[in-house]
Amino acid sequence: MNARRVSILGATGSIGESTTAVLAEWMAREPGAYEVEALTGGGRIDVLIARAKLLRPRFLAVADRASLDDLRAAASAAGLDAEVSAGPEALIEAGARDADWVMSAIVGAAALEPTLAVIRRGATVALANKECLVCAGPLVLETARQSGATLLPVDSEHNAIFQVLTHPDAVEKLILTATGGPFRTLSAAAMAAVTPAQAINHPRWKMGAKISVDSATLMNKGLELIEAGYLFGLPENQIDVVVHPQAIVHSLVAYVDGSVLAQLSEPDMRVPIAYALAWPARKPVATKRLDLAAWASLEFAPPDTTKFPALRLAREAFAAGGAAPAVLNAANETAVAAFLDNRIGFLEITAIVDRVLNEAARGGWIAIPPSCFGDVLAVDARAREMARDSLVRSSP
Ligand code: NAD
Ligand code: MG
Repeated sequence: MNARRVSILGATGSIGESTTAVLAEWMAREPGAYEVEALTGGGRIDVLIARAKLLRPRFLAVADRASLDDLRAAASAAGLDAEVSAGPEALIEAGARDADWVMSAIVGAAALEPTLAVIRRGATVALANKECLVCAGPLVLETARQSGATLLPVDSEHNAIFQVLTHPDAVEKLILTATGGPFRTLSAAAMAAVTPAQAINHPRWKMGAKISVDSATLMNKGLELIEAGYLFGLPENQIDVVVHPQAIVHSLVAYVDGSVLAQLSEPDMRVPIAYALAWPARKPVATKRLDLAAWASLEFAPPDTTKFPALRLAREAFAAGGAAPAVLNAANETAVAAFLDNRIGFLEITAIVDRVLNEAARGGWIAIPPSCFGDVLAVDARAREMARDSLVRSSP
């Protein structure tokens, strides 16, 4: 049997950790079945080396060009014989190197170019990153269509939908579940004073800082609504969101005959990652099993878009189309980074996104759909600059 060759972009993060765990489990069970081509990290050379010791990749890359010597020294001290490289081109090379299956788990629009390098080769992309589709959905999908690349959704909601999408032509609605984040029951006044540490402390999922903050503002569900719209080819009014704090039902598909299919599991990203790695088969993975009888009840409620306007902003940006989703994403990335850096308050994150969207709408250019990836990067840069200006105005 030929070994399956795999890579992980963003190996040092939370999804990188879960992907490493699934791979390490399966490599131990089926020796010779997997070979690891490339692993990348944004920083944290120690973590990258720890992953590399388990997975023995051929190529290691870090985002920061200045870290090359440190990476080389650490790889050699760990007895790894991998090629090492650093800088933005090194991340693109990691995506371009010959692997059949690549986990895309760099956070933010920074994932776009490395992920495109995979898509252009026509390989299979396990897509955990959502910002690529939000900022460049139609172009990403068209590139995949031309190259024959397969996109497998790993975001738990989209993976759930993918698993129960038995009749794509008979879908009435997609229903995305949301835990509601750590501040679901807080008043707006109390939310104004929350700290980054509180925002990152998600009640049900252990994730990277940026997505944890997005979950707390509900922007994560907004980004996921856009991601679902592109992945499954549905307009905004066929995608509902329901709050489900237990995070057991990962999403649902409502069909035209009144049937609703859902996918359930304990909240553990190894479940969708294993599904994407085994697809189209299923393989065992050692996660905690769901014990439904142990749950006294599962709750469902509508989202509060007055208290959490981010979801409404994302819905409007998706309905407006053009460059609006890319503007929303870039403004949000900038504002979340400022919040994590203690430069703005929690409620300012969504307020800044709102201001940037309005300002871009007044400029008129937001209606123009990016016609190439260069346009996407230009829109992204422009919206980040507007968000930074808005930050200056809103800082104390
Ligand atoms: P994380 O912050 O834990 O990890 C991010 C990874 O990207 C790290 O390897 C980091 O070093 C790298 N990185 C950061 N900035 C970079 C840059 N500028 N250039 C290159 N590499 C960079 O994040 P995560 O929680 O693992 O999430 C990764 C992606 O997966 C996000 O898009 C997120 O929305 C999505 N996702 C995560 C989860 C989850 O449970 N963690 C669930 C669904 C979707
Ligand atoms: Mg999700």
